[in-house]
Amino acid sequence: MSYTYEAYDVVVVGAGHAGCEAALACARLSLNTLVVTISMDSIALMPCNPNIGGTSKGHLVKEIDALGGEMGKNIDKTYIQSKMLNLSKGPAVHSLRAQADKQDYSKSMRKILENTPNLTLKQAEVAKILAQDGKVTGVETFSGAIYPCKTVILCTGTYLNARCVYGEVSNYTGPNGLQSANHLTESLKSIGIEMYRFKTGTPARIDKRSIDFSKMEEQKGDERVVPFSFTNQEEDIKRDQVSCWLTYTNEKTHDIIRANIHRSPLYSGNIKGTGPRYCPSIEDKVVKFADKDRHQVFIEPEGNYTNEMYVGGMSSSLPEDVQYQMYRSVTGLENAKIVRNAYAIEYDCINPMQLKSSLEFKTVEGLFSGGQFNGSSGYEEAAAQGLMAGINASMKLLGKEPVILDRSQAYIGVLIDDLVTKETHEPYRMMTSRAEYRLLLRQDNADLRLTKIGYEVGLIDEERYYKLSEKEKLIEEEMKRLNNTLIGANSEVQALLEKYNSNTLKTGTTLAELIRRPELTYEMLKELDKNRKPLPEDVIEQVDINIKYEGYIQRQLRQVDQFKKLEGKLIPEDIDYSTIPSLRIEAKQKLNQIRPLSVGQASRISGVSPADISVLLVYLEQLRRSIKEN
Ligand SMILES: Cc1cc2nc3c(=O)[nH]c(=O)nc-3n(C[C@H](O)[C@H](O)[C@H](O)COP(=O)(O)OP(=O)(O)OC[C@H]3O[C@@H](n4cnc5c(N)ncnc54)[C@H](O)[C@@H]3O)c2cc1C
Repeated sequence: MSYTYEAYDVVVVGAGHAGCEAALACARLSLNTLVVTISMDSIALMPCNPNIGGTSKGHLVKEIDALGGEMGKNIDKTYIQSKMLNLSKGPAVHSLRAQADKQDYSKSMRKILENTPNLTLKQAEVAKILAQDGKVTGVETFSGAIYPCKTVILCTGTYLNARCVYGEVSNYTGPNGLQSANHLTESLKSIGIEMYRFKTGTPARIDKRSIDFSKMEEQKGDERVVPFSFTNQEEDIKRDQVSCWLTYTNEKTHDIIRANIHRSPLYSGNIKGTGPRYCPSIEDKVVKFADKDRHQVFIEPEGNYTNEMYVGGMSSSLPEDVQYQMYRSVTGLENAKIVRNAYAIEYDCINPMQLKSSLEFKTVEGLFSGGQFNGSSGYEEAAAQGLMAGINASMKLLGKEPVILDRSQAYIGVLIDDLVTKETHEPYRMMTSRAEYRLLLRQDNADLRLTKIGYEVGLIDEERYYKLSEKEKLIEEEMKRLNNTLIGANSEVQALLEKYNSNTLKTGTTLAELIRRPELTYEMLKELDKNRKPLPEDVIEQVDINIKYEGYIQRQLRQVDQFKKLEGKLIPEDIDYSTIPSLRIEAKQKLNQIRPLSVGQASRISGVSPADISVLLVYLEQLRRSIKEN
């Protein structure tokens, strides 16, 4: 029997990584927000890898924090190991990764949600989206409770019609045996939403008392801990760290897999969903990279509260008995006690090309979505979309323009633009190679790129914005000073240059010129820099990078100017591409389906050729002239 309860501005469906960010954004922007989630005990659950961040994903977390999101702060509170990756490479790919205590992470996020004003939590399964005349009006739970609202944000993750599979065993449950959501898909289809079936997988968890770590390489955390949140200093979050361990599969492992590949649901057809190419199962690796005689396996602690260890690099859905042999063939795991079997999970999600760049559905006004439900994979990708969906649902209700980050502003912009513009037939995972302007989109300058936007939206407070402006001023002044500080070719200078194996000077130069030398840094030159004032580390980092990579940065900024020219060519919302004579049929169909905001976005749609873009540019120019003349 259905019963109508009080109305809300926003209803967020699901309290996973996307749902938490979406709900917090809406509530913090003073909207009356209800989160309906299947289980209050699995808020911000990490059902797979026990870490946040890593290559490109660390960038997303920094950007979420810079905009006023929660993930960065939450992992700073609950990490058990912290590491900066790719330090041997350039700053564009330096990426922070932290191992989380999964239970603490979930509990901490729950506490934040439960203590946020304007935010209400309800444990229930949403079974229907209520809509009238193409506009969302509310949600109905499986138990018949109706919550009227103005906007809904769907963040259902890997739970819609979820099926967990290993070998011949399959259960219609969510991750870790949690209840799946088996009713909403039909409701979404009934309002015209196209659904996909995707899959992902996770490895076994092994009791650490059964692991021989003496046969593995210890992977310690960094001495110097860099916080994810720009609101934290190292001393605020410093703590004892635990280690991870590196071992490898071997030919025996690969033989066991090959001998049983016919029993793998991936190869027997028992799994229909499409999996992530860049997060392959171990059986996929053995089949696809048959030439490799070993694959890396990272043994990672799930938290301080448990002996369970995550076997990174060996996700699988092979039968239980094969898993037992396979894991025990790995060096150091000979006596492994498997606490949880590896499994694959299939689930329903959407074709994200049904979304605008604001993450609102094109065909159902007021319906937004974020996270794995949008066809992505990863906690960080989910949280980033959740935040943007929350911001834009709020902007809609507050009568403000949506916040669309473009590809030159943020990895979040690349993520969302790729999802809503480019066809993705597998879970989309962020990578640095996807970001064409990655030298500008470094994790270290996410605050300089995005905190002003977070402030204008209303998620960043005065004090934080003031600190950012001070930081910008310090960077600018120091850059100017270094470019204007002359250094003569005197013996002290020559001696220091020789000390760092740098060419001695023939004539005078500037401090900035010296910093541009790859072998020299701002720190190394302090002896020569008599007027130097003490500056915060994050300011020095920016000064060093901006000076050292100035040439590359300038070149990328010129590319962005080109990009912005086409991005700035907006396309009228009501355009009918089928009426543009010389456009090719495929282009007409794709453009009418995706309805790009700009010529720039149109140029990224697969099936729309450069010739089609020229036709479109001419057509838009004629349209502009005809409007002007009338
Ligand atoms: C087995 C497994 C393996 C994975 N492997 C990887 C991997 O290798 N690499 C990787 O990057 N990511 C992996 N992931 C994905 C990662 O977990 C997700 O990307 C991330 O959790 C997505 O966050 P989300 O907020 O979109 O959804 P989730 O974290 O799945 O949260 C969704 C929330 O919505 C709730 N919910 C769903 N439907 C309803 C409903 N109808 N009514 C009410 N509440 C509802 C659920 O209870 C849950 O709380 C894996 C996930 C699983 C389950």
